[in-house]
Amino acid sequence: MWGGDHRGIYTVKSSYKSLMGTINGSEVVNGVDFWLGVWNLGIRPSVKNFLWRAALDILLTTCNLNKRRVPISLTCSVCGGFKEDVHHVLLSCSTTAACWAEARVEALSGDQGSFVDWLGGLFKQSTKNKMEVVAMIAWNIWNNRNSIVWKNQAKFPYQVVNYAKSHLQAWKQARNRRLSIPNGAVSTDMNQWSRLEIGYV
Ligand SMILES: [Zn+2]
Repeated sequence: MWGGDHRGIYTVKSSYKSLMGTINGSEVVNGVDFWLGVWNLGIRPSVKNFLWRAALDILLTTCNLNKRRVPISLTCSVCGGFKEDVHHVLLSCSTTAACWAEARVEALSGDQGSFVDWLGGLFKQSTKNKMEVVAMIAWNIWNNRNSIVWKNQAKFPYQVVNYAKSHLQAWKQARNRRLSIPNGAVSTDMNQWSRLEIGYV
């Protein structure tokens, strides 16, 4: 499913419409919890966007590339043992499961639930702070996979988790400094953060 608008542009608004359409169509049991939960998190907008793309099943996994008629093997690019769909990439691939174990977050095995159901369930039982960390870890798991596939560079699970936490802390500190600045002023700290952030994208 593609979540872009009529011009094919993927926006927060079109993500919302598409996700709500999925909920109304109603296969996503925890969809509302998922949507409201993500909306309220104090994380970078690009990470929220990543979670919505994961929920809408449009991350560029080998399964989704195949749906777009890219002639590519369905097998996971990292472990080589299973079909590479969103569930496998973000929950059950061996490298992914090791990251969730490092963070002491219970993930799902290959034959359990969907990513949306899993995250929606976590929102029901976890604090906002914990969910912000979970969101950042999921995003860093995805980035680490891309580094493995495209650069042949892998982080250890503890590095993925620590990087997610330190990135979240740095982003929150930068945001808080920005919020405390009088109207129109631009701080030196935010200029430094902007340069730092470019390296993360
Ligand atoms: Zn795998």
